[in-house]
Amino acid sequence: MPGPAKSCAHCARALSAGETFRVHLYETREGYSRRDYCPGCAPSADPAPVAAWTSRRPAPAPRRTQAFDRQATYELFRRLEDDQQPRKVQLRFLLALLLWRKKTLRLGHTEKTADGEVWEFVATATEDVHRVLRPALDEEHLEQLSAQLEQLLSGAEVEFDGATTPLEDTTDG
Ligand SMILES: [Zn+2]
Repeated sequence: MPGPAKSCAHCARALSAGETFRVHLYETREGYSRRDYCPGCAPSADPAPVAAWTSRRPAPAPRRTQAFDRQATYELFRRLEDDQQPRKVQLRFLLALLLWRKKTLRLGHTEKTADGEVWEFVATATEDVHRVLRPALDEEHLEQLSAQLEQLLSGAEVEFDGATTPLEDTTDG
């Protein structure tokens, strides 16, 4: 499974340690895929990514390097809170599963609503409650997508700098 790329998806220039780059997450027939772009290359807006963020290649300090950035993933999860787009609703649920596995969230109760099954997650650090709509996918498919996402989000620092807010883009809204 492809983890974070080590070179730009457009110009193929190698991304060096500490360098900031743009990550675009796409939905494909096989699940999720990601492309990393160096600062000099503008990611194409078509197809629109399901999520995008700024990341940085970690410096080569294996002891310090986090395999999985819980805080950044939680931040991404939170940013999808009010998005009603089906693919973003799906991504949000998958991120919740991932954060649940990492104990950033714990599962509260689940309930059936007119829109579908809603799972309530509680942030273990803050007790913030998040209601998350479960997409209509079978368990196995959800597990597979979730594992794929974990892979794609591992191995790099993730930054949310406010200067770039691709989740608010309107190209696919
Ligand atoms: Zn490039």
